[in-house]
Amino acid sequence: DVVINCLLPKAYKFKNIKHIVLVASGKGGVGKSTTAVNLARALQAQGGKVGVLDADIYGPSIPSLFSVMDEKPTTQDNQTLNPISKDGIKVQSIGFLVSPQDATVWRGPMASGALNQLLNETQWGELDYLIVDMPPGTGDIQLTMTQKVPASGALIVTTPQDLALLDAQKGIAMFNKVNLPILGLIENMSHFVCTHCGEKNHVFGKHGGEQLALRHAVPLLAAIPLNMEIRETSELGGCLSVEHANIFEHYAACAQTLSS
Ligand code: ADP
Repeated sequence: DVVINCLLPKAYKFKNIKHIVLVASGKGGVGKSTTAVNLARALQAQGGKVGVLDADIYGPSIPSLFSVMDEKPTTQDNQTLNPISKDGIKVQSIGFLVSPQDATVWRGPMASGALNQLLNETQWGELDYLIVDMPPGTGDIQLTMTQKVPASGALIVTTPQDLALLDAQKGIAMFNKVNLPILGLIENMSHFVCTHCGEKNHVFGKHGGEQLALRHAVPLLAAIPLNMEIRETSELGGCLSVEHANIFEHYAACAQTLSS
């Protein structure tokens, strides 16, 4: 089986998936996973069949963002894994297979072995979109992913802070090197709107995402505010709903651009 898997062309295992989108960030903690999940929900709200693959091998947070930490993927044939289904979204993560504490101390080969297993053995079925939550950074694992997965392109999530922008730039350079199109940049925690007076504060700096997007000629798809509902729903593993329409619309706009 292992040999057969290696010989299969990389697109074969993903042949029933229309678009694979890698969601990446240079730096950790910028809101990459939160953005990936809300974007997946927005694509689903548009009528798409959506899956989310947590490739953030050292810090898998997708199980908790979907509130499915205690679930385990099932298998019918002892060779392939069925992803967990949550609210109609298919979810797969290394977090289902090992405890996150174990994964954080893995050396490179262990981590890439686990990632290969997820890539080779998950039965996604038919999907319009597979959103891949990439590990932060620009190392071996990220490069391997771009080689093994027939992705349509990458989305880069950054905050407007200088350090995050610098790392986002490295991410852009990495994808350029392997000729993977950058579908767009998402500036997260872009500003904070005061709940009392409505004033917009650029807590982490202004125009950073815009300038980076201009410099690399990639579209800036959204400027998502630093917002309590986003943090609360992500921490509780819930969804942004109709009550949060003005926040959800940022993700909906990204989804619209991706699908057009
Ligand atoms: P990453 O995947 O880049 O490590 P996460 O998605 O885990 O980052 O987000 C890090 C923290 O920031 C989480 O606690 C999340 O709830 C919070 N967060 C992410 N985006 C926002 C936002 N726009 N507003 C408020 N909190 C956010």
